[in-house]
This record gives sequence, structure tokens and C-alpha cells, in this order.
Amino acid sequence: MNAAAGAIGVLDLQGGVQEHLDHLRRIGVAARPVKRAAELDGLAGLIIPGGESTCLSRLLTIFGLDDAIRQGYGNGLKLWGTCAGAILLARENVGEMPFLGLMDIAVNRNAFGSQLDSFNRDALAPAVAREPIPLTFIRAPKIVQAGPGVRILLQLDDYIAAAEDDQILVTVFHPELTPSLAFHRYFARKCGLKVAETDDAALDPDWTPQSWTRFSYHV
Ligand code: GLN
Repeated sequence: MNAAAGAIGVLDLQGGVQEHLDHLRRIGVAARPVKRAAELDGLAGLIIPGGESTCLSRLLTIFGLDDAIRQGYGNGLKLWGTCAGAILLARENVGEMPFLGLMDIAVNRNAFGSQLDSFNRDALAPAVAREPIPLTFIRAPKIVQAGPGVRILLQLDDYIAAAEDDQILVTVFHPELTPSLAFHRYFARKCGLKVAETDDAALDPDWTPQSWTRFSYHV
């Protein structure tokens, strides 16, 4: 068996890479950054992080990673797109061209407004965790439509905030920037990996929905 088969990669071109790697390490999952197509070989899953989707799409094309990800997906690679990553995975991007187009959802980019309209909140996603989860939205898109093969994991107000199909998970918020490890555990299990149970609250007991600019914490 390939040594990486029990690992999750984090696309390392731009955006929130280290925070995802840190959360994966906290749940005891082998994780590594992915900068080149060959580094996808044998991975169980790949996280496409938040950042800026136009920038990410250009870098993905330049490095030939768009085709490599499509090919990996065809071979069973699980994918998780957070925020910009969800935009890149969507089959429809309202008013713009879709990019990877692998998941049957429509997203509306920057639907909450400007960067200053970023926010934190809590919500219960029963399939993912028993307790409400802290959520951080940074100039997030809204998922405005989902096809029949898509399961909605979190519906809020007039939009879908988290969803999955058999191979792809998308969240429009950033679990890697909160003390919760619930979505990382959920994705690791979707990838068929074993995860360690840890005490999430110990990561940042001071996190509050009012503290969206307070991202840094250490364990
Ligand atoms: N607004 C960004 C975009 O459209 C996404 C922001 C994020 O990933 N936090 O790509």
C-alpha cells in the first residue's frame, strides 16, 4: 500500500493551509501540503482551502493541478472545499464560469457583502456533531442550490452552509479557524481514516461569536 494512502493533503497554493494541517494533526491524521500533481498520489482525501477563488483557479491551472485533481477524483479521491474551495468545486457559479465543476451545487460568490461583512456564529449540524459548532464566515459564498445527489448538512437562513455528496464535502465557512475539530473528524471519516477523539473546547476556551478577528490560538 502506498505510504500516503492514510493521509489527507491540503492544497498549498494560497489561503488557509497551515490551519487545516494543524487541525488534522490534532485529530491524529497524517497530513501534508500538496503543491504538485505528483503529491496527490495515494492520498485518501484533499482539502481545497479558503482563500481567493480566482487566484486559486489560476494557480491550479498554471501547475496542472486542476486536471490532476479531476483525475484523482475519478480514481476515488475525496475532496473537501472550504469557502473558496467550495466555489471551485461547484458545478454552477452564479454570473461566472464554474471551475472544477465536480459537485452538483450552485454558489453565489461574496453573497454576504464585503470582507467587513465577515462574521462568526454557532449552529447545530446534527450529522456532524451533537453540540452546536462555532462557524467563521469570511467573505463567504452562499450555496443557493443543490442537486438530488447532494445531502444538506447545514441550512441557515436562505442558504446552504455545508453539504456533501458521496465523494465531496463543502463548507462555506472555515472550521480550521475555530476551536472545533468536528468537520475535520467528519471529513477524515469520510476518507475512511481513523481519528483521535480530542477535547475541542481546550483549543480555545475564549472563542466567542463576537470574536471573528481573533483567530490565533495555540495548543
Ligand atoms: N471571497 C472569496 C472568493 O470569492 C472566498 C473567501 C474565502 O475563501 N474565505 O474566492
